[in-house]
Amino acid sequence: MDSDDQTVHTVPPIGVHISNDETELSVALIGCGWYALRTHCVTLSKAKTTIAAVCARTEASRQKALAKLGTSAKEFADVAFAINAASCALVALPAAVAGRACLTSIQHGKDLISEKPAAWSPQEAEDLREAWNDRPRDDQRWRVLENWALKPGVLKVGELLDAGHGSEKYEWRCKRRRAAKGDWRREDKAAELLDVLVHLVRALRCWFGDCTVTSASLRSYEFDKVREVECSLKHENAGGFVVLELFDGDGGEESVFKCGDITWDAHKVNGEKVDGDGWVAGGARSTLMEALKSCEGDARADPCTSWEEGMRDCAVCFAALGMGDIHPGSFYEMPVVIGTVPRSPEGCVLSLKAHPSLIVVGGGANLRQRTGEFLETRLMARVLKVEGNIVQVEAGCTLRRLRQALMARKLTLASWPYYLDSTVGAAVATKSHGSSVKYGTVADFVVACRVATSTEDVWYDGESFDITAVKGVFTVVSLRCVPLFRVKRSVSTTDSLDAAWLRTIREHDHAWVWWDAATGRVAAMALDADADGEIYDGRNWSPYAPEVTRLLGPPVAGEDCYTAQYAVPDAAADAAVTAIKSVAGAGVVEVKFLPPSAMLPGAAAVCFNVYVAAPAPAWVLGVERALAALGGVAHPGKCCATDV
Ligand SMILES: Cc1cc2nc3c(=O)[nH]c(=O)nc-3n(C[C@H](O)[C@H](O)[C@H](O)COP(=O)(O)OP(=O)(O)OC[C@H]3O[C@@H](n4cnc5c(N)ncnc54)[C@H](O)[C@@H]3O)c2cc1C
Repeated sequence: MDSDDQTVHTVPPIGVHISNDETELSVALIGCGWYALRTHCVTLSKAKTTIAAVCARTEASRQKALAKLGTSAKEFADVAFAINAASCALVALPAAVAGRACLTSIQHGKDLISEKPAAWSPQEAEDLREAWNDRPRDDQRWRVLENWALKPGVLKVGELLDAGHGSEKYEWRCKRRRAAKGDWRREDKAAELLDVLVHLVRALRCWFGDCTVTSASLRSYEFDKVREVECSLKHENAGGFVVLELFDGDGGEESVFKCGDITWDAHKVNGEKVDGDGWVAGGARSTLMEALKSCEGDARADPCTSWEEGMRDCAVCFAALGMGDIHPGSFYEMPVVIGTVPRSPEGCVLSLKAHPSLIVVGGGANLRQRTGEFLETRLMARVLKVEGNIVQVEAGCTLRRLRQALMARKLTLASWPYYLDSTVGAAVATKSHGSSVKYGTVADFVVACRVATSTEDVWYDGESFDITAVKGVFTVVSLRCVPLFRVKRSVSTTDSLDAAWLRTIREHDHAWVWWDAATGRVAAMALDADADGEIYDGRNWSPYAPEVTRLLGPPVAGEDCYTAQYAVPDAAADAAVTAIKSVAGAGVVEVKFLPPSAMLPGAAAVCFNVYVAAPAPAWVLGVERALAALGGVAHPGKCCATDV
């Protein structure tokens, strides 16, 4: 951030922007510093967004921005006048001064895209909150860019933590140019540090969750014109102290801007270093694009992070810089998220409170054709902790990512569904499963869960809770894992399927049957624990044995499939086989096995599954009807043509 970011503020002028859905988005770029020139200007010019104004303190900066934007928009040194010239302000100022520009924008009925915690002090936060509550337009939008969350360094550290590389000490070493001599920030240690610190704090939130208990200290040293600043932070969920070290020269040299050189000082990964924070790379452009679309009224655009969340980061910075404590209070305890892509359980409750009819989305496999208001869980995707054989994971984490995190700790789930792109929340909600009488469904592994509704944020755990009775949005789930184990695969075939044969097959630890109802040919694959076998990772069915592929047509990709499944009690298995045999033209039906489980409480289940290219041929509906007539329970995460 260079000194040109210090723009002029006057008394806000002029009238309020009047909303109109037809209004074309026009943007005022407020702040033309290093980052804005390299990312925002490029994105805005590619998006062909109308630029109404650029605002920077110096003529040179404004000219640079206009050249990058390829436009001849109006130039202003005054923030308020620049904001007034557009329908939306993109505020790209240093954190210490961004709040005033945001306030001006809100008070004048403009849409706002800000890129940092907009408030710097509790007072500023309160002012912003009041201004937002009194905003001139109900449909005014305020979007907050969270580029930081996608920075390679942040993602890499997240991966390391997910993989179990905890540490006693983390360091985030930043090399940056000091503000130039005479710059207003030169004398203000806090303001100078803030721009780097917010990134660290946000990264901490991403890695370890919100800081709720923190202690911090700040020390600075002057050595022959070179100043070093050390800020150390204690996050309650982090293994040790997080140390931010800033090295800066006398302000004469060109900036290196080498940020995010994170060092581990762990027992296990001693000295591991994650280099290259990548200020410009890693999703900054797409986040701005989403924010622009969202301000244009595109309901499907990512609404980004809520501004309240940024306020919380600011509270942590404030404390970390020794200017106040983090303690419960209105400033810190502002609601975390209002939006439909929350990052936290509290955010889910708030979203549901605002829109109780939101449809919750995991990976979206079942919801591709749906339109409407969604609550997406994809930003809640962290593996929170692993203690013994229990993993606690946020609901938006995919099974694939969970599997990777568990593998690193030599753990796994006792049985995996074949479909690993499902989120954990969706897998639990739909009782997804592989095929194992021994182990059951993913929901059966749940030992505790946190669930959001429009009124409550509830933890369920202990002996007595019944996962099948839990209603709401799963936000955090604790699953029982098992040590990694090895399996050997075997194949069986028959030409005369009946329930007795199925019973012999289901004795295996994991067993899956493919039955061509037209020809009567059947092939089954089984996986059984065997120290000489391959590690069980849920994909051991692939590639299918030739006996299976011989029964199947050309492969059907997941996104092109129609898949439906009904679980019938074991006692009805023979009747189900007979009923399916009578369906004219029936093709390949898969058979899976479950113990009495979340899928069919109280009775061991034989599950009959179809997986065909969409749209489904007529025989599929025949099979579904036949199974429904026998009391088959439809898989809630698959199609269901019978309204069961
Ligand atoms: C190609 C393919 C293969 C499949 N193979 C298998 C298989 O082997 N075994 C099996 O059992 N199933 C299988 N399924 C079904 C699949 O597991 C489920 O449909 C799963 O829910 C899809 O995950 P998703 O994250 O895309 O869910 P979504 O489609 O996003 O959501 C599924 C349902 O869960 C709800 N939901 C999502 N997240 C939450 C949450 N956090 N809290 C509460 N409710 C939530 C949604 O509202 C929706 O009703 C398969 C599906 C496909 C498309």
